[in-house]
Amino acid sequence: MIEGTPLPSIDDPLDAPFWQAARRGKLVVQRCGACSRWRFPPRPMCPTCQSLDHRWEPVSGEGRIWSFVVPHPPLLPAFAQVAPYNVIIVELAEDPSIRMVGNLVTAAGGPINEIDPATITIGTPVRVVFQQVAEDVALARWVVA
Ligand SMILES: [Zn+2]
Repeated sequence: MIEGTPLPSIDDPLDAPFWQAARRGKLVVQRCGACSRWRFPPRPMCPTCQSLDHRWEPVSGEGRIWSFVVPHPPLLPAFAQVAPYNVIIVELAEDPSIRMVGNLVTAAGGPINEIDPATITIGTPVRVVFQQVAEDVALARWVVA
């Protein structure tokens, strides 16, 4: 991990189950308890049926690159030192409308600038890996499947 990288808050009851699963190397997504629609990012109410009932379910961790960007300065100091790097948006296999943001790397602990952004292709199959970045925080990252 890059020195100075901001870490997510993992104690919010709304998304704590996501972070707890990530620490175990599992990807979970919130799902409506009434209509079973997946939703991400987590929120209290289903945008389809307005139910407050929900559960967390494991997903395969497989998806495809839906889009990507190459951030340029000005960036947070921790990221400015490693630019250029990639930020990809992954659509999940279970529901392509569920999209997660992360970095494409070659292995869980790989640096975010190890893959030349010019080689990234939209539609590439990817799978999730988890990098432990603090004692109780693991981040989802993506490798080519
Ligand atoms: Zn619903």
